[in-house]
Amino acid sequence: MTQPISAPSLGAAGSRSTRDWQAADAAHFLHPFTDFKSLASKGSRVITSAQNIYLTDSEGHHILDAMSGLWCVNVGYGQQALVDAAARQMQQLPFYNSFFQTTTTPAIELAELLARVTPPQFKHVFFSGSGSEGNDTVVRMVRRYWDLKGQPERQVIISRHNAYHGSTMAGASLGGMAGMHAQGGLPIPGIVHIEQPYWWAHGRPQGLTREAFGLVAAKWLEDKILELGPEKVAAFIGEPVQGAGGVIIPPSTYWPEVQRICDRYGILLVSDEVICGFGRTGRWFGCETQGFKPDLMTFAKGVTSGYVPLGGVMVGDRVARTLIEEGGEFTHGYTYSGHPVACAVGVANIRLIQQLGLVEHVHDDVGPYLAAQFESLKSHPLIGDAETCGLMGALLLVKDKAKGTPFPDEIEIGMVCRGHCFGNGLIMRAVGDRMIIAPPLVITRAQIDEMMALIRTCLDRTLADAQKNGWLA
Ligand SMILES: *Cc1c(COP(=O)(O)O)cnc(C)c1O
Repeated sequence: MTQPISAPSLGAAGSRSTRDWQAADAAHFLHPFTDFKSLASKGSRVITSAQNIYLTDSEGHHILDAMSGLWCVNVGYGQQALVDAAARQMQQLPFYNSFFQTTTTPAIELAELLARVTPPQFKHVFFSGSGSEGNDTVVRMVRRYWDLKGQPERQVIISRHNAYHGSTMAGASLGGMAGMHAQGGLPIPGIVHIEQPYWWAHGRPQGLTREAFGLVAAKWLEDKILELGPEKVAAFIGEPVQGAGGVIIPPSTYWPEVQRICDRYGILLVSDEVICGFGRTGRWFGCETQGFKPDLMTFAKGVTSGYVPLGGVMVGDRVARTLIEEGGEFTHGYTYSGHPVACAVGVANIRLIQQLGLVEHVHDDVGPYLAAQFESLKSHPLIGDAETCGLMGALLLVKDKAKGTPFPDEIEIGMVCRGHCFGNGLIMRAVGDRMIIAPPLVITRAQIDEMMALIRTCLDRTLADAQKNGWLA
């Protein structure tokens, strides 16, 4: 009974054929955000290893990962310092909880380090296992705050259409994805949405400059607050730059005006930094790049560069003081809140970002370099707009460049382009007609050149398809 079971030939990709892996994958693994039947018929791509900014699949293909996994591998793949931190911590103490008057040293160290790298109003952190859980914590925490403030009627949280805040009940409710709200009885009560600050879709057709549109979009928040009654509104939540929605970079006027409106009505401001945090935008946090001062900040992804799961909420002084001084027990938490292995990797990751100077690298060097490269793509016949913020970038594919006419819905131009990307060894994501990138922060100028050459090839092949099929104006 206690005999060790000899492992079957699982593990090394070489021991089983790609077809074999794909068959087992289709038979047992339900993938996130996936049409199961369609994937089973096509077969998954099996990724077997990675180094720096490159992936290798089970067929030996070399792929440039311009999406950092899922916006998370900020320090790139294969960083030994993170591997060592995890191994050391697993040997010393793989797990202990932080519920019953106990704590672990990596969780303390990470909390201390986070207080140092986040804006000055943040001295406290609540850990979760993911960004979605972090946003569940936000919902519980802001409502608890207003209860303690003697304003329990302040329940409503305002978010935005096309926002992404995760996939739990609260995360998906805060998010503004119509397809997600259509399944599972969402959004939950007390969450409402305003329009996103997407100039191309909502400002340009009105003939507004970006800056003028930023103020109009912020005013939608004030209108919604007044419609609901300010005494009912608990918080506003937004990503500094909307990521999964298609890298929607707001005009520079937007966030400072949102801040002014939240201040005016005493409403808590929550920055979802799950993508923008840890250097992505060229500052440590997206709110610093966009010029606002949130009360709470959700983080995940880049905190460990995705090497292990970890998330949390930075709690600003205004909320922390109330929860600590007046709150009594906060009846909320996760088994893995402050997981020692995840926190040890988080500490190693933040130290590595500091040692390599990655935030400065993005701000002073590769961020501006990428921006210039994207600018040069604006002359391409398919490109209606090209924008970047730090190392996030979006290319809008249009049918008629002169008029800015979009492709009709039935032509899935983004998927066509994405197909060419996969075919040419490049991971770039399609969100509708927007092709988006968020490469690892360790990317060099030479690697950006290599990525741009691939992007140009993929755009040219997409253009050739469009010409051949008569999709253009
Ligand atoms: C990915 C993401 C989340 C959800 O994080 P998970 O770790 O997948 O739960 C939340 N907010 C934003 C902005 C994200 O990009």
